[in-house]
Amino acid sequence: MNRRQLQREAVLAAEYVLADLDPEPGGRIPIFDLIEDRGIWLSFQPLDQLLGVYQRVGDVAGIAINAARPITLQRFTAAHELGHHELGHRSHLDDSRNIEAATSDPNELQAQTFAASLLMSEMSVESRLEHRGHDPDRPQLTALDVYCLSVELGVSYQAAVTQLRNLGKITAAAAQRIYKRKPLEIKQQLLGGRRPDNVRASVWRLTPADNERHLVIDVGDELAVGLPEMRSAGYEWGLHRSSGLTLVDDRYEPAASAAEPPLIGGVGTRGLTLRSHRPGHTTLELQLVQPWEGGDLADTFTLDITSTALPVSELGRGISVNQHAQLLAA
Ligand SMILES: [Zn+2]
Repeated sequence: MNRRQLQREAVLAAEYVLADLDPEPGGRIPIFDLIEDRGIWLSFQPLDQLLGVYQRVGDVAGIAINAARPITLQRFTAAHELGHHELGHRSHLDDSRNIEAATSDPNELQAQTFAASLLMSEMSVESRLEHRGHDPDRPQLTALDVYCLSVELGVSYQAAVTQLRNLGKITAAAAQRIYKRKPLEIKQQLLGGRRPDNVRASVWRLTPADNERHLVIDVGDELAVGLPEMRSAGYEWGLHRSSGLTLVDDRYEPAASAAEPPLIGGVGTRGLTLRSHRPGHTTLELQLVQPWEGGDLADTFTLDITSTALPVSELGRGISVNQHAQLLAA
């Protein structure tokens, strides 16, 4: 098979898995659940030079992930190893060249293509771009747009740039330019200059268009919610429900830039940043109210949030906790 045929086969294998899963369009793929549901042993270890391992002995298959790497890379590695499994490859030891770099090895090329197609399928990418108001066929994407897409899909910034290029959503020149931006700088831009408490955590950009969405996030992620607020009218956004989330920043930015004086009654942006501090299900509800006793309620903004943690012990190593009972019964 030539390169194109190998990639085509891997894309089809990913589409087959997705058809079976039938995920929410544009949402994150629950890759660790997918692996467990297939009866593959899943473990998290501080692997030395390796990012991941796929082993198959007879009918028994296992995947080990390097737990010391960022969660986005762990997800991508898991999808890569699942690719080796789904495509019928033999056992593989994968370092970062196999997972992330351009390769001529047919099996690695296929596993890479499978991982990208599974976590960032064309349908998923287009659905997210449309939600943000882009033309999905010809989006004009900035580094900030690409970063936000990577967060939504739960992949690294670099992996998102590569896949957008492969899908023809950005030109080679744009990919090069966007690739040079540092994700940490973009996170700080989203947080109004503040560094996230954990520099590895993802920062979600949320606007009125996200009202009533269901989000699957990682514990430690920061949610940067920006909502229009007209202070002169006497209405302010306030937190109504936010269990499981910690408010880490609260600021107001007037509408006009320093160059033009603000208009009376101009609409500014209220920026509230919250961090998820525990796994589980929660509802975030913000209310636009007159901040006095018996004041009017003008609007609400709600998010239905599932905050997830790695299915592993506190030590960050060992077999997936969901498989402990299965292991003891064996
Ligand atoms: Zn591999």
